[in-house]
Amino acid sequence: MIRFALLGSGSRGNATLVECGRTRVLVDCGFSVRELERRLSAIQVDPATIDAILVTHEHGDHIRGVWPFARRHGLPVWMTPGTAIACELRPGDDFHPVVPEEPFAVGDLHVTPFAVPHDAREPCQYRFDDGDRMLGMLTDTGSLTPHIRDMLGGCHGLILECNHDPDLLAVGPYPPSLKRRVGGDYGHLSNGQAAELLTDIATGRLQRLVGAHLSEKNNTPAHAARALAEALGCRPEEMEIAAQDTPSNWFSLSS
Ligand SMILES: [Zn+2]
Ligand SMILES: [Zn+2]
Repeated sequence: MIRFALLGSGSRGNATLVECGRTRVLVDCGFSVRELERRLSAIQVDPATIDAILVTHEHGDHIRGVWPFARRHGLPVWMTPGTAIACELRPGDDFHPVVPEEPFAVGDLHVTPFAVPHDAREPCQYRFDDGDRMLGMLTDTGSLTPHIRDMLGGCHGLILECNHDPDLLAVGPYPPSLKRRVGGDYGHLSNGQAAELLTDIATGRLQRLVGAHLSEKNNTPAHAARALAEALGCRPEEMEIAAQDTPSNWFSLSS
């Protein structure tokens, strides 16, 4: 069984826990060590039980606390070489290079990193499996590629970016250059693009879907839930949307 929890999601910080058997990994840490430890204790997780940190890319909302937390708890950190260049490694840091499309294992978890279009040096996202259940993550992606669809089709769990509603972005407070960046092919997925992915891929096995990385200025949980529900043919109230300020519940993918 795989379970996962989002400790927080959005442009002020991202961190997700994925667990399988005796293995627990943290994907990204965009919070300070103190804030991360506060959120871990809110869901009764002792930092000493985390085995590794996997990083998607070097933007501050994903990496802020990665090395401080890793150094404090002696954790290995997995990231692409491009991402590693963007953060200053110190002698003694336990860095493991990630090569997109080359699977690796952390304890009981099989991990497949895959490349995504985003304005970072060498961004990737991750798909996890335990040989039985599959969990796919997709945030910080400006556009959908055939490869992304291949990676996420047939997953039992999905964490899926619903960054903005294009109409709210258009009338929102961002300057024009930032609106272009966010809405561009190397920016962030809109609610409509998230819905498009769900209609394009096989979702027959999907047990858990969590909308994530919502913009606080250019989206609302109701807009995101409506788009996801429409794509899946269910009610918006049934949709899970991750919050910025509070950790989610644990979500389990069972056999
Ligand atoms: Zn981000
Ligand atoms: Zn980013």
